[in-house]
Amino acid sequence: MPIHLLAPEVASQIAAGEVIERPASVVKELIENALDAGTRTITVATLEAGRRLIEVADDGCGIPSDELALAVSRHATSKLARAEDLFRISTLGFRGEALASIGSISRMTLVSRVAGAQAGARIRVEGGREGKVSTTGAPVGTSVRVEDLFYNVPARYKFLKSDVTERRAVDALVTRYALAYPQVRFKLTEGKNITLQTSGDGDRRAILAALYGVETARQLLEIQAQDDSSPDPSQSLKLTGYVSPTALTRSNRRDITFFVNGRWVQDTPLTSALIQAYHTLLMVGRYPLAVIFLEIPPQEVDVNVHPAKAEVRFRNQDRVFGFVQRAVRRGLLAYAPVPQVTPALWGSQAESTRQVSLDWSLAHDEPRPGPQVQPAGNASSPPAAPAAPINGEALPASRVPLLRLIGQIGATYLVSEGPDGLYLIDQHAAHERVLFEKLMAQHEMRQIPSQALLSPVVVQLPPAAAGLLKTQLSVIAHLGFEVEDFGSNSFQVRSMPGLFAGSDPALALRAVVEDFEEDETPLQNEIEKKLAARVCKRLAVKAGQVLSPEEQHALLIDLEKCDSPRTCPHGRPTMIHLSVEMLERQFGRKGAR
Ligand code: ADP
Ligand code: MG
Repeated sequence: MPIHLLAPEVASQIAAGEVIERPASVVKELIENALDAGTRTITVATLEAGRRLIEVADDGCGIPSDELALAVSRHATSKLARAEDLFRISTLGFRGEALASIGSISRMTLVSRVAGAQAGARIRVEGGREGKVSTTGAPVGTSVRVEDLFYNVPARYKFLKSDVTERRAVDALVTRYALAYPQVRFKLTEGKNITLQTSGDGDRRAILAALYGVETARQLLEIQAQDDSSPDPSQSLKLTGYVSPTALTRSNRRDITFFVNGRWVQDTPLTSALIQAYHTLLMVGRYPLAVIFLEIPPQEVDVNVHPAKAEVRFRNQDRVFGFVQRAVRRGLLAYAPVPQVTPALWGSQAESTRQVSLDWSLAHDEPRPGPQVQPAGNASSPPAAPAAPINGEALPASRVPLLRLIGQIGATYLVSEGPDGLYLIDQHAAHERVLFEKLMAQHEMRQIPSQALLSPVVVQLPPAAAGLLKTQLSVIAHLGFEVEDFGSNSFQVRSMPGLFAGSDPALALRAVVEDFEEDETPLQNEIEKKLAARVCKRLAVKAGQVLSPEEQHALLIDLEKCDSPRTCPHGRPTMIHLSVEMLERQFGRKGAR
C-alpha cells in the first residue's frame, strides 16, 4: 500500500483511542472539564454502566454559544495558549482533545449556558459529524450527554468488560474525585440508583467511608506535611492525606491513590515511595491503603506525558519521593510508635502485625530463612536442620503432636508443651485454620448447616463493594449464607453458616468483597475456597482477645485435628516450635556457640 494520509474520521478515532478507553475515561474527562469550569456541583448519570448513556452536568462557567462548535473540535482549548504554558499548568485539561475524542466515538450532545446569556446553546456530534448550534433553554453551566459509546468502533466495544467491572471503574473514579474535591457536591447515579452522593461541605472522612466503608475509614490516619527545604516558599511541597495504620492492609496496591495538584495519577512510582514508608512494618505481600494529595509547584511537574493525563513526571523526582516517604513514615510513627526492639536473644522483629519470627541465624550459621517450625517428632535427628520455611504440606509430619496447654500470653499466643519442646501458637491464625477446615469439610459434604439469624441484619456497603457482592451472592449461598440484595447498596443477611453462629454478619459480608481481585480465578470452586478463607479470617478470634482456659483448650484440640495445622489458610504460620534441642543450644548446654 502506498503511503497516504488517513481520512480525518480514522485519524480522530485513533486519537480518541488514546484518551477514551472505557466509560470511566469519558466520566473522567467530563468531570475534569466541570472542575476546570469552577463548578460547585457535578452530577453524573449512567445507564448500563455507561455504555448506553453517560451524562455529566455542572453549574460552572459554561461555554459561550459562539464557542460551542470550537469546544468540540480537536486541539481547541481555553486553557493553554503557548507551548511554555505547558510547564505551568494549573487546570486539569489542556490538550483540547477530550470533547472531540468523545464526539468521534459516540453520539454526544452538549448544552451550555454562560451567566448573563439569554438562553443556552446546544450542539450535537455524532461519530465525529458536528451538527448545527441551536438555541435552547438551559440553566447556567454545562451538561454533556454521551450516548452509545463506541457504537461506531465495534472493536473497541468488544473490549469492554462486564457491566459490574465497568461500573466499578466509574464508581471508583467518581469517588476519588469526590475525595479530592470535597468542596464540590457530587452525585452519581446508575439508572434509578444513587451510588454516591457527597455534601460538598469539605468533609473527607464521610467520603472515605463511602469509598472504603465506615469501619475502615475510621481507622485511617490523617497526615499532613510540608517540605520547605527550598528557600523560596513558592517552591515548597505539601502533602495531606490518609494512610492506613499498620494493622490495616490489603493484598494489592489498588487502594493506594495519589493526587498531584488535584489530578489523579496512576501507575506512579510514588506508590513505591509510599510502600517504602511502611518498610518492615507490613508483612510481605501486604500493602497499605492510602489517599495522598500532593501539592507541587506546577513548573516542577510535567503533566503532558500521557494522553489520558494519568501519569506525571517530576523535575526533581528524588525530592518528591523522599518527601512522600518521610512524611508518611513520620505520620505512621507519630500515631503508632514502632516498638524499639533491642537485638535480644530472639532477635524478634516485633512488628505491629504481631508476627513473631525467630532469628535462626543466632542458632545456626545459615541465613535466617524467616519464621520456621521444625518438623515435629524429630528430636532424635540433631542438629536441628534449619527447617524448610513453614508450610504444613512441605513438612514431613504435617500433623501437630499432642500438646499440653500451659496458658495464654499477651492475650494472643497459646503456650503449650509437646513431646519435643515448646509450641507457641498464634490464636488468631490457628482459629482461622480450624474454621476454614471445618467449613471446607462441610462444603465438600455439600451440607453446610445454615443457621437463621434471630432477626435478619441489613448491611450497607460502599458502592464498589456492593456491586461486587451482587456478583458473589450465589457463591456465598453455597457457603451457607442466605443474603438478599436489598437495593441502594444494602443487603439483608438472613442466615449464616452454623459455624459462625454469634458472629457479626456485617463483618462476614465485608470479608467477602474485601481484597477481591477483579481477575480472580473463574473457577467456582477456587472462588468459594478463597471467599471461605477470607470470611474465616475475619471471624476468627483476634489477637488481643482473652480466651478462657476451656476456649484455649478447645482451640488446641481443634487444631490438632486439622489436616494442615501449621499454617493459616493464607499461609502464615500458626505456630512456632522451640525444640528442647534448640533451647539447650541457646542456653549453652549443648554444642559450641
Ligand atoms: P481541554 O479540557 O483540554 O481544554 P476539552 O476538549 O475537554 O479540552 O474541552 C474543550 C474546551 O471546552 C475547554 O477548554 C473549555 O473551554 C470548554 N469546556 C469543556 N467542558 C466545559 C465545561 N463543563 N464547562 C465550561 N467549559 C467547558
Ligand atoms: Mg478537558
